[in-house]
Amino acid sequence: MMTTALAAAGAGATGLFKPSAAEAASDGNGQRSHGQGPFPAEGMALYSSHGPLELMKFQRRALGPKDVAIKLQFCGVCHSDIHHGREHWRKETFPLITGHELAGVVVAVGSSVSKFKVGSRVGVGCMVNSCRHCGPCESGMEQYCENGTVLTYGSKDRDGTMTQGGYSTFNVVDEDFVIGIPDAIDLAHAGPMMCAGITVYSPLRRWSIGPGKKVGVVGLGGLGHMATKIAAAMGAEVTVLTTSRNKAEDAKRFGAKTVIVNQDGADLSKHKRSLDFILDTVPYQHDLDRLVPLLKLDATLCLVGVGKVTEPNQLGPFSLLGARNSFASSAIGGVRETQELVGFCALHDIRPEITKIPREKIDDAWTKVVQKEARYRFVIDMTRT
Ligand SMILES: [Zn+2]
Ligand SMILES: [Zn+2]
Repeated sequence: MMTTALAAAGAGATGLFKPSAAEAASDGNGQRSHGQGPFPAEGMALYSSHGPLELMKFQRRALGPKDVAIKLQFCGVCHSDIHHGREHWRKETFPLITGHELAGVVVAVGSSVSKFKVGSRVGVGCMVNSCRHCGPCESGMEQYCENGTVLTYGSKDRDGTMTQGGYSTFNVVDEDFVIGIPDAIDLAHAGPMMCAGITVYSPLRRWSIGPGKKVGVVGLGGLGHMATKIAAAMGAEVTVLTTSRNKAEDAKRFGAKTVIVNQDGADLSKHKRSLDFILDTVPYQHDLDRLVPLLKLDATLCLVGVGKVTEPNQLGPFSLLGARNSFASSAIGGVRETQELVGFCALHDIRPEITKIPREKIDDAWTKVVQKEARYRFVIDMTRT
């Protein structure tokens, strides 16, 4: 999840170009020999906030000294893509290609690239640039850049064009924002680690989750199911709160000890003061006052799900007072921490639960995500396009 405040959005060039002679000579899938670019690409774009996703041909920029060119194979479908695409968070610049859970293989590198080579298996998450010199950037927390993180899509890039995301065949990204993927992890599984995985891993680390801690995970979707697996692997005892009764068995399989069906009117009183930390992943307005009483003294409720800006969450005036609780939030993780998460998943054999879809089915996938029917992450498979 990325919050809108991080984005340096605005009107500007769309990043679109007319098809080049090089593209005309290719098969349209970027399968030609790869030079220094610009590189022909195609992706599933929105032309308005209420339209369907349609195929758009465009170009990725020529390689700068520190850029790597990535032939994309997979991209996870995040609820944030829908929030952006439907303008739940802010005005967007169209056409817009969403997707920030990218995975693919490096096919060309700039002259100064040192971390990757042609053939490297890589991922890209929610951001592709930052200022590099502010305090957060120097601390490896580029997602909190004081001068504005450049998001993977819908942000104005350093060359003035708007970034376009991972529902596409190709991308060119500065190597400092590229994550190496070990051979043990399928690229299809790597995609969802880039947003869903790191968004939950970072706060679980920040609040020192480990053995002896009781962690509540609210919402069992793309983020929640990764949070359950990761927190369990960290040694915590996990309680999942879900509104979907039919997800209870899955929650146990992912490592939850306790599952609470959190529907309106359900009695949560027997779980009062039972949790050391709650990670709330629900991306819509919901009742936080039901959750806070589950926290022990001084414990924190951290909300990483971001709903519509027109429908904010609220806390009652006494909610936090009763047990000196804290309310917090967290945005993805830094590049270094994302690399650490990938290693953690490899070490503990953690993988997202995915359903591969062809790109023509993205509209259908978005509908299913909103209807809570994803089990648990749709991943666009570009290897067959
Ligand atoms: Zn996301
Ligand atoms: Zn910065």
